[in-house]
Amino acid sequence: MAIISSNIGDNDFSLRKKELRLVDSKIIPEEKRNNNMNLARPVTFQEFIGQEKLKSSLRIAIDASIYRKEPLEHTLLYGQPGLGKTTLAFLIANEMKTKCRIATAPAIERPRDIVGLLLGLKEGEVLFIDEIHRLNSLTEELLYSAMEDFRLDLTMGANRGARCRTINLPRFTLIGATTKLASISAPLRDRFGLSQKIEFYTYDELKQIIVNFSQLINLNLEDEASYYLAKISRGTPRIALRLLRRVRDYAQVVKKTNLISLNSIKKALKSYQIDEKGLDSLDRQYLSFLNQYNNPTGLDAIAAGLGDDSSMLEFVVEPYLIQIGFIVRTPRGRLLTGLGRKYIDSENDNF
Ligand code: ADP
Repeated sequence: MAIISSNIGDNDFSLRKKELRLVDSKIIPEEKRNNNMNLARPVTFQEFIGQEKLKSSLRIAIDASIYRKEPLEHTLLYGQPGLGKTTLAFLIANEMKTKCRIATAPAIERPRDIVGLLLGLKEGEVLFIDEIHRLNSLTEELLYSAMEDFRLDLTMGANRGARCRTINLPRFTLIGATTKLASISAPLRDRFGLSQKIEFYTYDELKQIIVNFSQLINLNLEDEASYYLAKISRGTPRIALRLLRRVRDYAQVVKKTNLISLNSIKKALKSYQIDEKGLDSLDRQYLSFLNQYNNPTGLDAIAAGLGDDSSMLEFVVEPYLIQIGFIVRTPRGRLLTGLGRKYIDSENDNF
């Protein structure tokens, strides 16, 4: 049972509004008209490209819960940043014809934050918690009974003045998103009825996402240009859309046109120091650092050498370098492969 400080009144579960956003999934179509950043967010399964297996499991689970007039089971989505976890949470809420409330775990600092969030939910709503592996233990403990029995068990006050209180909650769906599945404790993981991995996207899927988005923003993209962009997007829609926006800036400002050719993409990306594999200067610095050694090098040593955060390197930089076979993780550290060495030797001449 979690302990909450005694001076909390029932109406005093103040949310940290700048971090916790209440979003009605139905407002997305309107946001789509007003805000280019959200324009790309698909709101139906049809618009959500790729991830076919995941979509069909979710489709069945959603239809079954609609049939039973129950909220969807708590769902855990895991995978690299930018693959569509937040988008799926909105989409699920949309399909369930309900609202999606969004929070990030680091913003839920005190037990009263999660209590406030849970008390603010209405029957059937979706609560999306991003980076759920970063919840602190008190918050996590409160979530156990909330997820399992839709009930909050609180102890208000301390010592002899302590009072126990149970508060019933409306039935809701928790959607947790994480890039680090292994960092989620077993008790929390076990309380998710569905657990779904989001995979990297194929070139064709990314191309489709790029084409759809370019139509929304009135860009005329040549076919080979969209495929090239897909190939350098590291399997990740967020990167594809970001690159497309940079290419659009370049075309509009330097070339004064909305027509994007393969040639202009190459020039634009070169000006942003992004190479033909989609690697940027940090990737190349990482590879150059490893290139100095023939033996495995520890992540902390690499982070210190580059002056960067080791967790950022591990979860943002390395997964793609591993995927394309440029580095391997060994028990003794990271090692550049022959492919990686060949690449960085030639690329260093170009940039
Ligand atoms: P995550 O929460 O995993 O970091 P997001 O859901 O924020 O990723 O997605 C990043 C961007 O990519 C958003 O603009 C989103 O609309 C777009 N996106 C992600 N997945 C897809 C998809 N399958 N189809 C179309 N667009 C997508």
